[in-house]
Amino acid sequence: MSQSLATVAYLGAAILFILSLGGLSNPETSRRGNLFGMVGMALAVLATVFGPRVDAGGIAWIVGALVVGGGVGLYAAKVVKMTQMPELVALMHSLVGLAACLVGFASYVDTSIQLAGAEKAIHEVEIYVGILIGAVTFSGSLIAFGKLNGRIGGKPLLLPARHWLNLLALLVVVWFGREFLHAETVADGMLPLVVMTVIALLFGVHMVMAIGGADMPVVVSMLNSYSGWAAAATGFMLGNDLLIVTGALVGSSGAILSYIMCQAMNRNFISVIAGGFGSGAPARKGGAAAAAEPQGEVAPVSAVETAELLREAKSAIIVPGYGMAVAQAQHTVNEITRTLREKGVAVRFAIHPVAGRMPGHMNVLLAEAKVPYDIVMEMDEINEDFPETDVAIVIGANDIVNPAAQDDPESPIAGMPVLEVWKAKTSIVMKRSMASGYAGVDNPLFYKDNNRMLFGDAKKMLDEVLGALKS
Ligand code: NDP
Repeated sequence: MSQSLATVAYLGAAILFILSLGGLSNPETSRRGNLFGMVGMALAVLATVFGPRVDAGGIAWIVGALVVGGGVGLYAAKVVKMTQMPELVALMHSLVGLAACLVGFASYVDTSIQLAGAEKAIHEVEIYVGILIGAVTFSGSLIAFGKLNGRIGGKPLLLPARHWLNLLALLVVVWFGREFLHAETVADGMLPLVVMTVIALLFGVHMVMAIGGADMPVVVSMLNSYSGWAAAATGFMLGNDLLIVTGALVGSSGAILSYIMCQAMNRNFISVIAGGFGSGAPARKGGAAAAAEPQGEVAPVSAVETAELLREAKSAIIVPGYGMAVAQAQHTVNEITRTLREKGVAVRFAIHPVAGRMPGHMNVLLAEAKVPYDIVMEMDEINEDFPETDVAIVIGANDIVNPAAQDDPESPIAGMPVLEVWKAKTSIVMKRSMASGYAGVDNPLFYKDNNRMLFGDAKKMLDEVLGALKS
């Protein structure tokens, strides 16, 4: 393939990636967005493999790597459960970081790259910065993977003087950067490069370990952004324009998403990036144990009684959470919605921005179950409507409906906007036990006078509710 054809293909792929991001901004166009992304990526891979920079000998290696990597990816995509998607995404981010590190070291020791003067200095800065971002992304994403699948606890690890440690790490990285740029030979430059890599790896671990459970959504989208910048850095090192453009797209869209997440969680963006720096949130000092424990008794309700309450309601709001994903109850939820609407009940869904374990988690599940988009509302669109609602039904959600976020300044989730389900005439919480949610915080909602608890697996309980509604 000639250089000009490869450039045209890259341009086409870049446009498809932009269209893909545009499509993903709305559930109705997201399928098309995904399709654009897949076609763009196929075009990019083909134009690279058959492009002018790969010789015949290299193709065999690349095809071999594609078969192995593609096989692993295909297998992972087939076996991963919907509830494990966030972990898989975190793992993928770590691979982008690892790739940036490996490409950085490879291009530093590559003797075929002969540069001098300013060009050499620019290339070395690309390598240093690329490995730095890659290493932070790699180790940070691995810790996020551990936190999301529960192997690492959600409690923040707060080392004494952690901000000074971070500052010291930054200064050491800058100093070794200077040493690296002044190194005469590759052997001389290797030591500062390796030291910086180790510090960056430790920083990534420290940064994510210091984040509490409730702030994890911001970290996940931030690591998504970092993986984009790591890819862009790899593009600079390899002189690949498309990788630079694609990395910048992912990096900047991830940064915007992180910012939106921070606003949704009422968190300071810089504070979260620095592991809680300057937030002064009580959560980070006292943890869940410091918050006031809810008191009183809970009022259980049966599936038949729940069906009765729903049948008699004029309006109902369904609040799905992580438990709905675990129980895979979305199809039954859709059936119940349809049945209630046929009976004249105005049913709508309230989606909290951090419900579930990844951005858009609930929207994906509801779309999969074919719930009409026009009754799926964002938190800001629907939160004021709870006082006029007869029944609010919470399906496997906990942190996102916790009134302690508003009432208890000592709570680890203090200040986080929540769905005010307790303002409905009756709220029903569907979960298996009194266990807390991801943030590890007790929920006073369960003890409110107008709240009922429907204990059991969400799918099983909803099947019973549906049966009672239809009988
Ligand atoms: P939570 O994790 O707060 O609560 C989920 C609840 O579901 C649990 O209390 C659990 O209670 C219940 N549950 C689990 N399995 C079932 C089941 N089979 N049937 C019925 N109930 C079940 O989830 P939310 O969606 O309310 O909040 C999301 C949390 O995750 C927030 O803290 C958010 O910060 C965090 N997070 C979000 C991310 C995102 O991007 N969206 C990423 C990372 C973290 P029980 O065991 O008693 O059944």
